[in-house]
Amino acid sequence: MTRITVAKGDGIGPEIMEATLKIILAAGARLEVDEIEVGEKVYLAGNTSGIAPDSWETIRKNKVFLKSPITTPQGGGYKSLNVSTRKFLGLYSNIRPCMSLHPYVSTKHPVMDIVIIRENEEDLYAGIEHQQTDEVVQCLKLISRPGCEKIIRYAFEYARQNKRKKVSCFTKDNIMKQTDGLFHRVFNEIAPEYPEIQNEHWIVDIGAAKLADTPEVFDVIVVPNLYGDVLSDVAAQITGSVGLAGSANIGTTCAMFEAIHGSAPDIAGKNIANPSGLLQAAVMMLNHIGQSDVAEKVQNAWLKTLEDGIHPPDIFKPGISKQKVGTKEFADTVVANLGQQPAVLNAVSFAGNPALELPPYQRKPAAQKDLVGVDVFVHWNGYDPNALAEKMSSITAPGTELRMITNRGIKVWPEGFEETFCTDHWRCRFQPSNGSGMTKAHIIEILNNAFHQKIDTIKTENLYAFDGKAAFSLGQGQ
Ligand code: NAD
Repeated sequence: MTRITVAKGDGIGPEIMEATLKIILAAGARLEVDEIEVGEKVYLAGNTSGIAPDSWETIRKNKVFLKSPITTPQGGGYKSLNVSTRKFLGLYSNIRPCMSLHPYVSTKHPVMDIVIIRENEEDLYAGIEHQQTDEVVQCLKLISRPGCEKIIRYAFEYARQNKRKKVSCFTKDNIMKQTDGLFHRVFNEIAPEYPEIQNEHWIVDIGAAKLADTPEVFDVIVVPNLYGDVLSDVAAQITGSVGLAGSANIGTTCAMFEAIHGSAPDIAGKNIANPSGLLQAAVMMLNHIGQSDVAEKVQNAWLKTLEDGIHPPDIFKPGISKQKVGTKEFADTVVANLGQQPAVLNAVSFAGNPALELPPYQRKPAAQKDLVGVDVFVHWNGYDPNALAEKMSSITAPGTELRMITNRGIKVWPEGFEETFCTDHWRCRFQPSNGSGMTKAHIIEILNNAFHQKIDTIKTENLYAFDGKAAFSLGQGQ
């Protein structure tokens, strides 16, 4: 028996959870269920995180969480429960299999069987955003070495366990050389440890186009958080419906399983939602808790039901489907098919598919870290970068000089272009003038001078070299 936590969620959540639990319990899942309330009601009762503290206790105690989609109320002030759950519980890996069920589910891509492994805790989803000037807001994109190592190793271990042939990495490291560059570098470091698995890297824009056009060339795709969010919805939709895909959120101690779609309020309470996405998540959960026998039975009965043309409305197509059924009737048919196998679609065998156990992240020895400059960001309403350069040159600390000014990343001084459009958000780079080092005292002096000159400094970023290598971006055009 495994004790799990279940949340029925909002919108179509209760209907698809009822269908899912009915199927897996009928298949013999050895489960005890603790139900908690999350989502809209909890938000509207004044809990801005969408979950009560004692529900967290239940989730942490049981360690396995099957969750229906929830509705996040419109308007500011509500934090996404999904993002919080992934981060609080360290669920670093989001696994999203997307598979065509041709010719039984209509799709433009008959040969498609990919698994998107999405980093789940960092990237632009760190949720660190600020307004700094009248005209400019920012969102911090945080990518860490442990984050990259854990997800990339997970992808290769997953490929090995599931006898997959290739792992493709998607990044935009031609532009984001530090953040996406780290993800790509770590991919290149880890890939050779798995010589039996092919590896390749795609720039995400052309990789996404290729995925939407010829998904059959991909197998496992490992990707930073935001790209993974977008690409996995595209991948699920082109198999036939977002209603078909489930996802597993895996951490070192806890795991959460959910459909990839939302609460679909437009079709809630009508008995027409497709429960397959949550059912697929439940199948991954059963494998995760070592009940692969039950997972296999459920999956084969589900494949047989789809193959027989018994389809919920979202995938019903005259000429392909045989019978349009509601959520409940679909679940009843899967239950009736338990013990049977599909005749044409490949029946699954999940033997030897236990939860992956990865070695804990080992922190590397610290590099030699030298301060080599500072970027001082200022809010300034002027338009002429030469005038700002004159002001900023007057606040340098002895031994430092103003090297460059950029606006939204593009160099505007020295030798900028008149054509470059400038906002009220300026980055002024100070570096040592005489080849000697830079210290924090220099930075404090520059800021102090700025304060006395009534220059509106909004933030600073220290510039470092790690083991002698500059670890910051140049200005575009520098
Ligand atoms: P959605 O995924 O709920 O719906 C998009 C479209 O797909 C709708 O037309 C819907 O009817 C259809 N659809 C979705 N699931 C289906 C299913 N199982 N069967 C048949 N059709 C299905 O996306 P949305 O409308 O953008 O979001 C609705 C709400 O869900 C929002 O409040 C959003 O914040 C929330 N949401 C929650 C989660 C989650 O809890 N994991 C994820 C995404 C969105």
